[in-house]
Amino acid sequence: MFRFPARRAQESRITHEDLNVAGRTVEITRRPYKRSLGLTLRMNGKICVSAPKGVSSSKIRDFVLSQEEWIKANLSRYENVRRAYPKKRLVEGEEFLFLGQAFPLTFEPCTGQPCFKIRDGKLVCGVRREIWHCFDPHQPHPELLSSLALFYKKKAREILVKSVRDFSERMALYPSGLSFRAQRTRWGSCSSKGRISLNWKMVIAPPEVIDYVVIHELSHLKFYNHSAAFWSLVETQSPNYRAHRDWLKQHQFEADFLASESELHPSDDIA
Ligand SMILES: [Zn+2]
Repeated sequence: MFRFPARRAQESRITHEDLNVAGRTVEITRRPYKRSLGLTLRMNGKICVSAPKGVSSSKIRDFVLSQEEWIKANLSRYENVRRAYPKKRLVEGEEFLFLGQAFPLTFEPCTGQPCFKIRDGKLVCGVRREIWHCFDPHQPHPELLSSLALFYKKKAREILVKSVRDFSERMALYPSGLSFRAQRTRWGSCSSKGRISLNWKMVIAPPEVIDYVVIHELSHLKFYNHSAAFWSLVETQSPNYRAHRDWLKQHQFEADFLASESELHPSDDIA
C-alpha cells in the first residue's frame, strides 16, 4: 500500500482561512502540531497568524487585537518603505536598474513576442507590430512584466556563470554545482556539499557588487563560517567588500519588481 511520507501527511492537514479583524484581513494558517499563536507582518501589509488546529476564531481575533499597537507601528514603518520604493510601472521613461545603472524604458514595434534589450542607454521593449497602432506607451503595461523578468533572468545567468568561472579559476575554488533562484532575502548561499545558489535578481547591482556575492559564496568552499579568516579571503579578491555589502543592504528593495509576488506591494495594487 502506498503511504505518504509523514511530513506530506502533516502538510496536508495545514489549512488556510481569512478572518476579518477590525476591518483588516488576517490570513490564518492552522498547523496540526502548532502549540501557540504567532503573528507575522509582511512588508506588503499582509497580516498572517499561525495557529494550532482547534483554536476558535474569537481567540485569534482577541490575540490580533492585543497586538494592535505593534501592528500599527510596523504598518506605518512599512508604508514609508513602500513610499520610498513605489511599484515600478511599465510606462515610457520609467527607470529600471541593471548592472547598477538606471535605464529609462522605451517601446518600439517588433516582430514576434515582446522582448527586451538594452540599447543606447535605454531599456527597449519590443511590442508586437500587430498591436503597435493601439499601444499606448504612457499607460502602464503590467502584462509585460513577466517578459521583463525573463530578460533579467537570462542576462543574470550569463553574467553570474562568467563571474563564477572567473573567480573559481583565480581562487582555485570550484563549486560542486551552481543554481539560480529568486530568494526573497538572500543573495546567495553555499551548501555543506559545496553547491552554490545565487539570486539572479542581483543583476540590478553594479558588476563589482555581483562579483562580491560570488566571491563570498566561493570563499565558503574554504571556510564554512563567517570567521576573520573567511573575511580576509574575501578581501583578497574584493578589497571594497564592505561598500558592496552596504550597497546590497541599501538597495535590497530595488529588485522587488522582479519578484513573482511583490514583497513590498499588495498584490491587488494594480500597476
Ligand atoms: Zn556567508
